[in-house]
Amino acid sequence: MTTKRKSTKPHRRTANAPENSFVAGGFAPAPEDASILRLDTKPRRLLIGGKWVAGASTRETINPATGEPIATFAIAGPKQVDAAVAAARRAYEGEWSALPAAERGKLLFRLARLLQERSREFAVLESLDGGKPIRESRDIDIPLAAAHIFHHAGWADKLDYAAPGRRPRPLGVAAQIIPWNFPLLMAAWKLAPALATGNTVVLKPAETTPLTALLLGQLIEEAGFPPGVVNILTGAGQTGATLAAHPGVDKIAFTGSTAVGKAIQRALAGSQKRYTLELGGKAAHILFEDCAIDQAVEGIINGIFFNQGHVCCAGSRLFVQEGIADTVIRKLKRRIETLVVGDPLDKNTDIGAINSPEQLERIQELVAAGKAEGAECWQGPQTLPRRGCWFAPTLFTGCSQSHRIVREEIFGPVLAIQTFRTPAEAIEKANNTPFGLSGGVWTDKGAKIFKVTGALRAGVIWANTFNKFDPSSPFGGYKESGIGREGGLHGLHAYLDLHHQSPTMS
Ligand code: NAP
Ligand code: MG
Repeated sequence: MTTKRKSTKPHRRTANAPENSFVAGGFAPAPEDASILRLDTKPRRLLIGGKWVAGASTRETINPATGEPIATFAIAGPKQVDAAVAAARRAYEGEWSALPAAERGKLLFRLARLLQERSREFAVLESLDGGKPIRESRDIDIPLAAAHIFHHAGWADKLDYAAPGRRPRPLGVAAQIIPWNFPLLMAAWKLAPALATGNTVVLKPAETTPLTALLLGQLIEEAGFPPGVVNILTGAGQTGATLAAHPGVDKIAFTGSTAVGKAIQRALAGSQKRYTLELGGKAAHILFEDCAIDQAVEGIINGIFFNQGHVCCAGSRLFVQEGIADTVIRKLKRRIETLVVGDPLDKNTDIGAINSPEQLERIQELVAAGKAEGAECWQGPQTLPRRGCWFAPTLFTGCSQSHRIVREEIFGPVLAIQTFRTPAEAIEKANNTPFGLSGGVWTDKGAKIFKVTGALRAGVIWANTFNKFDPSSPFGGYKESGIGREGGLHGLHAYLDLHHQSPTMS
């Protein structure tokens, strides 16, 4: 049962609810059992050259749903970065390059199968460390990570077909830096194409979510990858900066904020290093009057509340054609009232915890700016747990193009709604952004889909759906959303030197 309640008040935290006993919107609690993890208190180490070694210092990673520490991990300093790059170079020049391509493929297939076998453990750990609902880590993050590795395993011995007429060669040592919003999935997006194409890797997971990458490191060992092919350096931003600037790497693959991406690009200017940058987004999600409204409302919910809105391609700017705006907003509010916000490990949960106190602060700051600049704020009536990092699903109406909540990436469960009258106006407003990662269009008319999607300046555009991912489909951005693509043939090419022609063609 849902209560229809208009809420414009700031969000409440009930004092009488027992600490962190979440009430799942009328459903009986259905928590996943975290004991499968066998979490111990031993500090996690770095994987360098096939050995687990200590870092320069240690730090704790917390469970953002409770604020409690769950494990201690190592921070890699310059010495460990040097050692990891050297180990990756040795492996590249030695055993890894000597291995037949089909054997590389077999190792990747084995890794993907091991990940599937232990998927429940990975899902629980991902939700515990990062705050995302178990339903998403179980049904999306982990299966997609395995699918990505399977897909690229198949390519390992078929690279000549990925670049006909060329003799593709690996680049060498790839430095890979990933964010906290899809920790394991981003690790898979990075590792799978790099390894399938014969490169070796130094991977740097995000500071707030290091644990699933470290568990993946154990599977990489178990699968039998030669030492040094994959090195994992946990750490903070400084570790990433040291790795990105290291003279011993041939390629940098970075996913993260536009600000850091720009800094990396500046530092690389004039060097021979190859790089791909997957950066921020502010996707336009456009609803035309002829769309199927109920399906579109589900698409909007998925577009902005999936993973608490910590999604680079989130549909964070909603454009609704004037004639249906009132209906859409009414239905959207009613649907938001049914969302379950709470314990990430509860299988009923739709919206979990915000990833970190820093991210929560950023969301709060931008929402305050939205109110101060004159947009109208509406929040779902959900009761938020008292401890941990939480933010209620939030809508803004009455937004204008100049508002910060329309221009800046919030990376939280906050939707800015605007209206439009004609397709031309929708296209102009949608493209009026420094970003260009993704977009969405809802209409009953095929011709309109082609016209509008063709005019949107974004790397990935969904029509009558949203947030669909496939390893064979390239993903990446225009403008400040980045350079290069991950996934598909484009993603393979980003790890290959294609300058050499095959003998038959020369
Ligand atoms: P971030 O601060 O840029 O961090 C990303 C990664 O870079 C983390 O591992 C971070 O380490 C590291 N890092 C921080 N400062 C660095 C520096 N100066 N040099 C090298 N590495 C550095 O981004 P975030 O806040 O974690 O992630 C959110 C952003 O990622 C959003 O803007 C989102 O849109 C974007 N994103 C893009 C995609 C895409 O495919 N386009 C996908 C997912 C996310 P620490 O965590 O230790 O600081
Ligand atoms: Mg954490």
